[in-house]
Amino acid sequence: MASIEKNIAAIHQRMAISAAACGRNVADIQLLAVSKTRPASDIRAAIACGQRDFGENYLQEALPKIEALADESICWHYIGPIQSNKTRAIANSFDWVHSVDRIKTARRLGQQRDPGKPPLNICLQVNISGEASKSGFAAADIGTAAVEIATLEGLVLRGLMGIPRPTAEVLEQRRQFALLRQLLESLQQHLPELDTLSMGMSADMEAAILEGANWLRIGTAIFGPRPARP
Ligand SMILES: *Cc1c(COP(=O)(O)O)cnc(C)c1O
Repeated sequence: MASIEKNIAAIHQRMAISAAACGRNVADIQLLAVSKTRPASDIRAAIACGQRDFGENYLQEALPKIEALADESICWHYIGPIQSNKTRAIANSFDWVHSVDRIKTARRLGQQRDPGKPPLNICLQVNISGEASKSGFAAADIGTAAVEIATLEGLVLRGLMGIPRPTAEVLEQRRQFALLRQLLESLQQHLPELDTLSMGMSADMEAAILEGANWLRIGTAIFGPRPARP
C-alpha cells in the first residue's frame, strides 16, 4: 500500500479506538486532511482513499491547487491566518473557515461571500494556549463575539477552533481542549445550533477526541513531515 493510503487507514483506526474508549460515535468525528505544502498529486492520492475534506493555510498556495483539482468534488477548509485584503478570495474559494479571529474579519467574509453560494461555515479561533504570540479571541471575549457573528448574513457560525500549546503531556493536552469544549458548552446556552469543535492535530488527536473534537485537522500523520517554510 502506498504511504498516504496506509496513513489514512491508520488515522481512521486511531479515531475508532479513541471514540470507543470514551463512548463516542466515530461518525461525529470528521477528518480534515491538512494539505499545506503538499502537491495536488498527494491530494488526489488521499481522495482515492475516500478523503474529501482538505485544509489549507495560505491563500496563494491554495488557489492554484483548488483550480488544478476543480474536477474533484472537494470540500475546502481555510485554517490559516486571514489578512483583510484576502477575505474576498477566502470567502469564495472555501466552504469552511476555521480561523476567524476578529469580528471585523467575520463581517467581511459574510459580506463578500457570493450570495449565490450556500453560506460559509465558520469557526471562531480561540487562543486556548494563552500565549500572547498566538492568534485567536481571548476566552473572555468569545461570548460577545459569537452572539454578534451569529447574526451575520452569508455565514453560518458552527463553533470554535483551537491550537493548544504543544506538549507531550496528555493531561495538559486535555486540559487545553477541555477549555475549548467548556467555552462551546457555555455558548450553546444562547446559540444551541453550534455543533463544532475543531481541535486535534497529528500529535494530540487522541486527547482532542476524548474532549469532544468534531474536526481533527491532520497533516503530518497523513502526508509525512513537511519541509520547513522558507
Ligand atoms: C499545519 C496545521 C495542522 C496540521 O498539523 P499536523 O501536526 O501536521 O497534523 C492543523 N491545524 C492547523 C491550524 C495547522 O496550521
